[in-house]
Amino acid sequence: MKWTPDLTQRMLRLHRTGFSYPAIAAQMGITEGQVEGKCHRLGVSRESPGRPNPALAKQRYAVRKNREARDDKRRDLRLSSLSKRVCLACKVAFWSEWFGNRVCARCRGQESWGTSMADEPLTLPSSFSAEPVKPGEIS
Ligand SMILES: [Zn+2]
Repeated sequence: MKWTPDLTQRMLRLHRTGFSYPAIAAQMGITEGQVEGKCHRLGVSRESPGRPNPALAKQRYAVRKNREARDDKRRDLRLSSLSKRVCLACKVAFWSEWFGNRVCARCRGQESWGTSMADEPLTLPSSFSAEPVKPGEIS
């Protein structure tokens, strides 16, 4: 068979609509191999629904890896910005993991402020004092 522009457009339309290769082939009266081959040549084969695609899986894996690496970096950044801040609620200094964290873990209690490492027990250095600190004394 010959892929005329009309046939190609019709096939692409069916493909975009989400039809599988066999369904497209049946509707157009051609073979599945012809549809798949054409899609592949047009570079749209990876959009094929319901068919495992190693290239796409690899791409998604890479995206996920990137996200994990970014989250790791963010966590490191948060840890590196750990500093003593005054709790807005009880006015007691506490170790805050980032500048927006202004309420100590104790005041947050069981309330959900989102999952955060600050919810985990934190070992305080011996230099740490739980005495109230004036907001101007620390950053
Ligand atoms: Zn507090």
